[in-house]
Amino acid sequence: MEETISKNFIEQIIEKDIEEGRCKKVVTRFPPEPNGYLHIGHAKSILLNYGLAKEYGGDFHFRFDDTNPTKEREEYVESIKEDVEWLGADYDGSIYFASDYFDKMYECAEFLIKKGKAYVCDLTPDEIREYRGTLTEPGKNSPYRDRTPEENLQLFRDMKAGKYPDGSKVLRAKIDMTSGNMNMRDPILYRIARMEHHNTGNKWCIYPMYDFAHPLEDAFEGVTHSICTLEFEDHRPLYDWVVQECEFENPPKQIEFAKLYLTNVVTGKRYIKKLVDDGIVDGWDDPRLVTLSALRRRGYTPDSIRKFMELVGVAKSHSSVDYAMLEYCIRDDLKLKRPRMAAVLDPVKLVITNYPDDQVEYVDVPNNQENEEMGTRKVPFCKELYIEREDFKIERPKKYRRLYIGNEVRLMNAYFVTCTGYDADEDGNVTTVYCTYDPASRGGNSPDGRKVRGTIHWVAAPYAKQAEVRLYENIVDEEKGVYNEDGSINLNPNSLTIIKNACVEPTLGEYKPGDSFQFMRTGYFCMDIKDSTEEHRVFNRIVSLKSSYKPN
Ligand code: ATP
Ligand code: MG
Repeated sequence: MEETISKNFIEQIIEKDIEEGRCKKVVTRFPPEPNGYLHIGHAKSILLNYGLAKEYGGDFHFRFDDTNPTKEREEYVESIKEDVEWLGADYDGSIYFASDYFDKMYECAEFLIKKGKAYVCDLTPDEIREYRGTLTEPGKNSPYRDRTPEENLQLFRDMKAGKYPDGSKVLRAKIDMTSGNMNMRDPILYRIARMEHHNTGNKWCIYPMYDFAHPLEDAFEGVTHSICTLEFEDHRPLYDWVVQECEFENPPKQIEFAKLYLTNVVTGKRYIKKLVDDGIVDGWDDPRLVTLSALRRRGYTPDSIRKFMELVGVAKSHSSVDYAMLEYCIRDDLKLKRPRMAAVLDPVKLVITNYPDDQVEYVDVPNNQENEEMGTRKVPFCKELYIEREDFKIERPKKYRRLYIGNEVRLMNAYFVTCTGYDADEDGNVTTVYCTYDPASRGGNSPDGRKVRGTIHWVAAPYAKQAEVRLYENIVDEEKGVYNEDGSINLNPNSLTIIKNACVEPTLGEYKPGDSFQFMRTGYFCMDIKDSTEEHRVFNRIVSLKSSYKPN
């Protein structure tokens, strides 16, 4: 095993805080907004925060950032829980909800008002925008900025009591309308909005804004290092202002890192939601998506995702990670752990003319050639088999080493066979291939040192089970880039190929939905957890066997 010696920049900050006595026990958090399913980017945040808490013997908080009732739903809360647990981020059974702090947040707002650090403003949203100025021009003070603390307190209490219509007043921080940082130009802390909240119902008609709520949530929970993504860098001065003016003793510290982006896939809840809403994919767990539920359904394992995050590392500047790297990680994880099975995706019949008609024999097949510990299994072999259509050619292409008339190949783990002929229908489609076998080559071993150059897989026809196989490509067209100029997605028309009549070896009948395997020569597959039944088995291809990516 390779040891990672150098610490990432977040670890360096934490270690310094510990050394210099600013931090006794590390507390991190993962704060999803329950407005969609989690995706691979969130997995990075989960594993990073959870990993740091573990590394430094601290606590990891799993908190729903549910302060905005418009887009949030219970369905999302459930799916997010499932995903966090699946990734193995142990949150000690307690989940935090930001909405549980609404009372405390309200108290903080009153505290700021009394200090003269917040005021109620009656400007309309348009006026507020106008007064805010631009990046090159300073803003102007609101005419309501100099209201006394007493007046502000009364107005704010009346806002809470429901005396004013939605949008007619806001509570603002009193900071600096000329600040070079737009976020510091008297940002809004509270707005009036009559909306039912999934946790607090109709108790509140005022809701805190994200930039006010988030630092408070962290501070209430004693979070020490609040790790977020780069788009919040410009908000850090406001984050610091909130925890400082609210006079917390050990205020949390915000640290930003770069979001994880993958090439040729759609990350971003907004875009994924659109694909789901438009019916382009079969729900949030469609295996072509990179939501965690989709990756799970496709057959990705938590270990493969952890491995991927280790390879990616933590950075301070944006870049896109090659999707092939994720594929490398799942291949690497399954390689020695999963059995290798025979499945013929595009079957054509092979008849061994000199094999006894009613004979069946059981050949020994290693479950995993690279891992002897996985043992062997018995697989039936007889006169009629299925092989892949592309393993026979009427005309031999250059360098082709599989079946063509006169050529000898190895049927994997069984016998050497020599092709003698074929039948075709009126359209020229091959219907049956004929061979003779060499009984002395049992087990696929050469009886006299003669070599064959091709090895193909097979399934005994009378014992084969029929299956549906789904092959996936990335959902976006790699050539064209992910998004069109108008913001729509460049869909890949070939992202899903359904094969209805694949034949799999009988052993596969013993497995359950969610189990995964290598299908020899064609890739890693997972029995679909949604659509697979005893009568109708469905296999998703997780990844093909070949890789374009090699780790350093
Ligand atoms: P999206 O951009 O997909 O809408 P979000 O940032 O709005 O995601 P939240 O629920 O607010 O989603 O995010 C929860 C946590 O996950 C935040 O700390 C956020 O910074 C982090 N996160 C979101 N997307 C990524 C990503 N691509 N890479 C790393 N961390 C991410
Ligand atoms: Mg968000």
